[in-house]
Amino acid sequence: MINIKLVLPPLPYAYNTLEPVISQKIMELHHDKHQMAYVNGANAALEKLEKIRKGEVEGSVRETMRDLSFNYNGAKLHEQFWQMMRAPQENNGPDEKVTTLLNENFGSYEAFKKEFTAAAVGVEGSGWAVLWKNKDGQLLVGQLEKHNLLGLNDFEPVLILDVWEHAYYLDYLNNRADYVEKWWQVVNWDYVGHLLG
Ligand code: MN
Repeated sequence: MINIKLVLPPLPYAYNTLEPVISQKIMELHHDKHQMAYVNGANAALEKLEKIRKGEVEGSVRETMRDLSFNYNGAKLHEQFWQMMRAPQENNGPDEKVTTLLNENFGSYEAFKKEFTAAAVGVEGSGWAVLWKNKDGQLLVGQLEKHNLLGLNDFEPVLILDVWEHAYYLDYLNNRADYVEKWWQVVNWDYVGHLLG
């Protein structure tokens, strides 16, 4: 039988680590409530699919698979997102290797930052900005709507930014652009560099 069960890993740092860019209150709700709900939602969908498979319940395969995609990706994106941030006082910017890769793909670091910022600010409704990398090391900036729409199949995320209202509303109200601008202060460039390989 298919036996996949998600867990909620602890936040990899203290809840107040990202202050003043992202408040402790947002991090508590975001990790303990929102990410938890995605973990639970993914597990519920997996269990339901198992029951449908065994003929124990009647259920909509389409709806359950849709629930799984939304919640599974929600859970995993948040795991990745936490790793990609660090305390603002520890942010030392992209190193030479990362800068070179960004220059090669986007022309300059500033051009990359402008495109990623535009992607983040421009997400329609709830979603993410993403820096994608494929197996050849080529980079693209893109968006995810919700957690699971608009992905690029053989690309993996190396830098992501949550622009759901739950990620910033308590601190920035409706000023998503202000949140996105401040967020650059907490990017963990060492981790991004590690993912860029
Ligand atoms: Mn979120």
